[in-house]
Amino acid sequence: MQIVRALDQLRRSMADLRRGGKTVALVPTMGALHHGHLTLVEEARRRADRVIVSIFVNPTQFGPNEDLAAYPRRAEADAALLRAAGCDLLWSPDVAEMYPHGFRTSVTVAGITAMLEGAARPGHFDGVATVVGKLFGQVRPDVALFGEKDYQQLRVVTRMAADLDLAVEVIGIATVRDADGLALSSRNAYLSPAERAAAAALPAALRTAAEGIAAGAPVAKMLAEAQARLEQAGFGPIDYVALCDAATLEPVETADRDCRLLVAARIGGTRLIDNLAVPAR
Ligand code: AMP
Repeated sequence: MQIVRALDQLRRSMADLRRGGKTVALVPTMGALHHGHLTLVEEARRRADRVIVSIFVNPTQFGPNEDLAAYPRRAEADAALLRAAGCDLLWSPDVAEMYPHGFRTSVTVAGITAMLEGAARPGHFDGVATVVGKLFGQVRPDVALFGEKDYQQLRVVTRMAADLDLAVEVIGIATVRDADGLALSSRNAYLSPAERAAAAALPAALRTAAEGIAAGAPVAKMLAEAQARLEQAGFGPIDYVALCDAATLEPVETADRDCRLLVAARIGGTRLIDNLAVPAR
């Protein structure tokens, strides 16, 4: 596995890797890799001849009071995991390589970024769309893989790629969970043992609400019960517990179309997000 930190080297390496018409898959990450990331890499290997993983903790998608400085960085362990997973090239630029002096462009995806994470984290999706647009321009992948764990991000990136005629197929991968249901996340490393145990209430509350709504229970009641269960388990503040149209993420009051149930809540100092599909009744 090559480890590349400079854009001119990336361009040379990509030309080599593509020789003979080989197809390329990209898995963008912020590192501190876990089994969820590695599942994306496995699927990337099935979908393309060459697998590129990027690790870049993107400062522009963090708010001023967020965890940019504390975000876990484990370069050596990540490289070893990717080598074992069959990654061909690790693209790991530093901030100055990604945003050189004079950088002035920002990508905004309207509408779908207004709610949920977009409302709770102003500017977050401009940072995401801009860096993912740059990664697509740098690597020029045939396919790119993103986790449903960050469901709104998946929808935003899919929209951007379509709107900007980027010749990349964006593929969503089901959320990988621990045995107790908690979605794997680099941020789980922040949880104390007690918080980690209590955090299992998040997927449990989601599942109960999703199953209730799918069975015809009133949406508002199921959302309120999920919220109460999270509060009882020690979560707070809760940014949202919402049922949304699975495509547009507009809030919905009845599950008369394919929906997504989405949650963001803090436990201790750690903000966790999760979501589940709620199929049309
Ligand atoms: P991150 O490093 O958190 O930016 O995540 C990089 C990619 O991995 C994103 O597309 C995430 O949605 C995806 N991802 C993170 N956690 C999981 C998980 N538990 N299951 C599946 N994909 C995940």
